[in-house]
Amino acid sequence: MREKLNQNLIQVIERIEKARIAVDRHRIVRLVAVSKYSTQEEIASLYACGQRAFGENKVQDLKVKSQSLESLPLEWHFIGSLQSNKINALLSLNPFMFQSLHSLGLAEQLQMRLQRESKTLRALLQVNSAKEASKSGLMPEVAQEMYLRIQESCPNIHLCGLMSIGAHTNENAVIKKSFETTYKIFEKLQTQGATMLSMGMSDDFELAIACGSNCVRLGSVLFK
Ligand SMILES: *Cc1c(COP(=O)(O)O)cnc(C)c1O
Repeated sequence: MREKLNQNLIQVIERIEKARIAVDRHRIVRLVAVSKYSTQEEIASLYACGQRAFGENKVQDLKVKSQSLESLPLEWHFIGSLQSNKINALLSLNPFMFQSLHSLGLAEQLQMRLQRESKTLRALLQVNSAKEASKSGLMPEVAQEMYLRIQESCPNIHLCGLMSIGAHTNENAVIKKSFETTYKIFEKLQTQGATMLSMGMSDDFELAIACGSNCVRLGSVLFK
């Protein structure tokens, strides 16, 4: 298992590097290994190969996996849609980053809890650039304004940038357009301190990097 995961990781890093160097030698691209379909043994093995950041999309799974792997210095990213009744559970796990903040209302609820517990939380605002009903996230037209409002009214949330899921289609041009939409908003927010642009999954991460992503979230291509 370890040998296979190591090979996958090396291949993935080579592909990320190739895509990165083609557009920008100076950009650093983070890799978050999405472990939602993987066991804790697989996560521990990938860590032994050098991978440190992992992502989960369900609070309960994040809890079980992060607690059972507590002895390893892993960096946990929550990437799923967060229901209000799971806020306390998520915060008690102290994730490194919440990548899928999708509304002002949720931000305000988080802020209330964070303030009460004197905690802070790094977060990315999720933008639904492809405007798909099946996805959460803010519409691109309001994303910039909401970003600024959350920055103003939620001091315990440290907004670091944006997250998007590429359009759900086989048409490259449509996926590219969805990434470009998010990149344009990110570009404007860089003056407000946004540094992280999380875009790209197993099927589209090279395209996402070409469109400006500096964080890819990869599951199947790593754990296959
Ligand atoms: C599952 C998931 C991923 C990883 O998907 P793969 O196609 O397996 O790489 C990335 N981001 C989010 C938000 C996910 O839910």
